[in-house]
Amino acid sequence: MKAAAFDYLRPATLSEALALLVQHGPAAKLLAGGQSLLPALNLRLSQPALLIDISRLDELRHVSIAPDCLRIGALTRHSDLLASPDIARHAPLLRDAIRHVAHPAIRSRGTIGGSLANADPAAELPACALALQARLMARSLRGTRVIPAADFFTGLFETALAEDEILTEIEIDFPRPDDVHGFQELSRRSGDYAIVGLAAHGRRSLGVLSELQLGYFSVGTRATLATRAAETLVGRPIDTDALDLAGAALAQDLEPHADLQ
Ligand code: FAD
Repeated sequence: MKAAAFDYLRPATLSEALALLVQHGPAAKLLAGGQSLLPALNLRLSQPALLIDISRLDELRHVSIAPDCLRIGALTRHSDLLASPDIARHAPLLRDAIRHVAHPAIRSRGTIGGSLANADPAAELPACALALQARLMARSLRGTRVIPAADFFTGLFETALAEDEILTEIEIDFPRPDDVHGFQELSRRSGDYAIVGLAAHGRRSLGVLSELQLGYFSVGTRATLATRAAETLVGRPIDTDALDLAGAALAQDLEPHADLQ
């Protein structure tokens, strides 16, 4: 199928894009990398009257080191993240996860902001944002709002972003020397969406975790923090008993639905 007809505007600045969002309201959709939106248009799952193309707003494409955290512009592409030494050093969980996002062609256009704003329950990056306790910057003509990742993903393809807001930046705290992370997903073929996946981040000293965030994806309507399971693993040696307890707690944390796979 082909997309229904739509108007197309390419603002030159973020302020212009924000003004267009206010002017056109729900009839408009933002276009970033287009790797989720264009298939949805072609399948007519979405039929906006207007596309506001923000893909060339270079002010939103960066990985920068702030005094207290790592800042990633929303239009930073998956391939930029994979190539960034700052991501490898300060957010290795993201680097490990992005290798599993689709294929190089899609990674060379898709953006971190698009992935988070799209809130696909099977996507890797929302679970990473939860595990890393990222802060998401939402900009509108009214100002900038900081949304903790834990409050951002509200449902199936739904987020806390208001209609007039653009996700502009993602902030992640620098890791401490005792930080640990892990990423695993099960998929039928490399690059496929996961059947189940986990992005984990924690703090460990002398074999005992003092903090742990377990971000699961593809097991419900949105990326989910398994808080009960994490609690059972904190403050004690990780042995078979601990893992049994965590497994039992996980059944309370998650409600995986049957799916095509
Ligand atoms: P777009 O498609 O441009 O936009 C997606 C949605 O987000 C739209 O509703 C748009 O309006 C909104 N949006 C975009 N940017 C912003 C912003 N800054 N602020 C507010 N709203 C915004 N993804 C995975 O995670 N894992 C996979 O395994 C995977 N496999 C894929 C396989 C195929 C064949 C394809 C086509 C895509 C796959 N993807 C996968 C999706 C890919 O990662 C997308 O790049 C990503 O989900 C969306 O990013 P985008 O920049 O392309 O956003």
